[in-house]
Amino acid sequence: MNPIPIEVLKELRSGHERFLSGFSRHPHSSRERMLEVEGAQHPIAAVLGCADSRVPVELLFDTGFGDLFVVRNAGTMSTTAAIASLEYAVAHLAVPAIVVLGHQRCGAVEAAFHPELQLTPSLAQVVGQLRMELFGLGAAEDLEEACRLHALNAARNLVDSSVLLTDRLREGRLQVEAAYYNLHTTRIDWLGSVLPNRFSKDLW
Ligand SMILES: [Zn+2]
Repeated sequence: MNPIPIEVLKELRSGHERFLSGFSRHPHSSRERMLEVEGAQHPIAAVLGCADSRVPVELLFDTGFGDLFVVRNAGTMSTTAAIASLEYAVAHLAVPAIVVLGHQRCGAVEAAFHPELQLTPSLAQVVGQLRMELFGLGAAEDLEEACRLHALNAARNLVDSSVLLTDRLREGRLQVEAAYYNLHTTRIDWLGSVLPNRFSKDLW
């Protein structure tokens, strides 16, 4: 039987609550577990997050080897490589839920507020994309608000860029959740699900 998206998300939320309360179980972190999943992976969910060292996804959800299919890059960007990786997780590993996890004080988002920065061509491309996005969202002032809006927008972009993900959402076989990790409180705020209809007026 295929896993139910909402059940998987519930599991992630409970793992995060354990982490928050200081009672992480650190499951599946032994060498034995690694050998158990050596032959094949069956992760329960996928996460698109930032490469920031303060956002260790497995620890935040109290998970271990083989539990999460994690894609990270600077700025939690829905790049072609990220989209392809998440499509692989959904199509070939039957992952029923994707969390797009933005975070507080994201350096990539902050850089978008500073056009005077000297950046390499690759960095300039990422930051330029963020700058246009935030300008379009009307989030040119407040960094925290911009980080939240970006998480929502990255989730929306991810789904809108993929026929596979859109179809799975429509069929109810996939849920895509935007979330925001506060570095100070260490709490993840759940920002909402991406709705399957890209033409819907009520996006969230
Ligand atoms: Zn970041």
